[in-house]
Amino acid sequence: MYTVAQLVGGVWGAGGDGGELVVRDPADDSPVSTVPVATADEVGKATQAARNAAAQWAATAPAERAAALHRAADAVAEATEELAAAVTAEMGKPLADARGGVEAGIGTLRQYAELAPLRGGRTLNGDADALDFLTPQPRGVVAAITPWNDPVAVSCGLLGAALVTGNVVLYKPSERAPATGWLLARALDQALPPGVLSLLTGGPEVGAALAAQDVDVVAHVGSTATGRAIAAAAARTGAKVLLENGGSDPLIVDAGVDPEWAAGQAAMGAFANAGQICVAVERIYVHREVAGEFVAALVRHAEALRVGPGRDPGTELGPLVDRRHRDHVHGQVAAAVAAGARAMVGGEMPDGPGAFYPATVVTDCRHDMPLVREETFGPVAPVVVVDSFDEALRCAADSPYGLAATVLTASMSHAQRAWRELPVGTVKVNAVFGGAPGGAAHPRRASGQGFGYGPELLDEFTATKAVHIEAPGGGHW
Ligand code: NAD
Repeated sequence: MYTVAQLVGGVWGAGGDGGELVVRDPADDSPVSTVPVATADEVGKATQAARNAAAQWAATAPAERAAALHRAADAVAEATEELAAAVTAEMGKPLADARGGVEAGIGTLRQYAELAPLRGGRTLNGDADALDFLTPQPRGVVAAITPWNDPVAVSCGLLGAALVTGNVVLYKPSERAPATGWLLARALDQALPPGVLSLLTGGPEVGAALAAQDVDVVAHVGSTATGRAIAAAAARTGAKVLLENGGSDPLIVDAGVDPEWAAGQAAMGAFANAGQICVAVERIYVHREVAGEFVAALVRHAEALRVGPGRDPGTELGPLVDRRHRDHVHGQVAAAVAAGARAMVGGEMPDGPGAFYPATVVTDCRHDMPLVREETFGPVAPVVVVDSFDEALRCAADSPYGLAATVLTASMSHAQRAWRELPVGTVKVNAVFGGAPGGAAHPRRASGQGFGYGPELLDEFTATKAVHIEAPGGGHW
């Protein structure tokens, strides 16, 4: 059982007068963590304390900040097993995946430690007696509000980039993975001067109180509805907003592809992490020519997945994060079935403890069903049969979201049309996951705004200043 503590003004154990939350293991409902809830007053005081620490950290040499981030990465690496176990206990994902998320987070911290000191501004070609340049400066106080689905990897990206560029950070991890956030903050804090990192815990109301503070940046990774509430709050304070939000990623299966291979890709995209990935495959547009064989193979993949608690070795499909989320997932599936779709496998609420939900393949879907249009965030593969690549591309593009899309095709011209025409941040051809290091994209529409990843995230946390210097009296130096 984890007993989480807050970190405010460099002091562990501060505050928590807003009550206590208990997080339960989604595999068996046993209690995992007790968590203090910050009051709005505590959030205000933490923001003030962070503001007081900002100038000194901003004035610390970039190489020194980078060295601190490397030490922080070392501390996180030492805590890898502890962190992975906490992720699995709190949100249910298979332990090997949880470990992979921690390792990804450590890699991100190290990349930012290496990259940040190398990123300068530029000089301008001004008058010979003047000096003109552009220089990036820390923005000041950053509120980082994060989700539960890959809690270490996502948090390390925001925290690493914000800290190494000279900002102080108020970190609010998800109420569904707070012990994970606490263990991460403990590891990072060891390497940082007191007051540079603060940890506030609690539910949406704590996030809302934080987003309403007089901070310089609110960086949020999470749902679209929350992102919009944060954008509205920040519009009142003038804070910059960085939003990496929900998605409903399409997968197009073109005529002429091997349906067995395509089903393997679809299964990986829809069922990995029980579908709780922002870039999970959320809707499939398959060409009629390959639809029958594709669906049969996809059903076999769903049936073959080893279901169990994330802590058991060999588990491929763990539980969903909690029962509230399971109700949301099943509600969308049930509504689609009631409207004429067919669950070929799965689609039924299991008995027993925890928040398990079966890998589900739903056919006879229509593009206008909420299961297809909205984010499901569960192990569900809704299949829409189309008659042409044109129709698939049109449906894929017709979405309130714009995060990523995958196209499986043997046609180079179709691949070219897909990456040019799809209004999303990332397009993948013939692989649902993957991509070169350093990839960063702008999500579109309801999926957010700004760079949430990659080297460009460092720029999001700095403000560029233009400087013009002349000799006094208009003379020479
Ligand atoms: P969420 O938005 O409900 O919660 C994320 C954080 O926001 C939590 O810390 C929560 O307490 C806080 N929060 C909730 N309401 C708030 C409010 N009104 N004001 C301020 N903060 C508030 O999201 P979630 O359920 O934790 O995460 C799942 C979602 O995250 C999915 O939609 C998924 O697609 C998205 N996600 C996106 C990316 C990406 O890179 N685009 C990555 C991971 C997850």
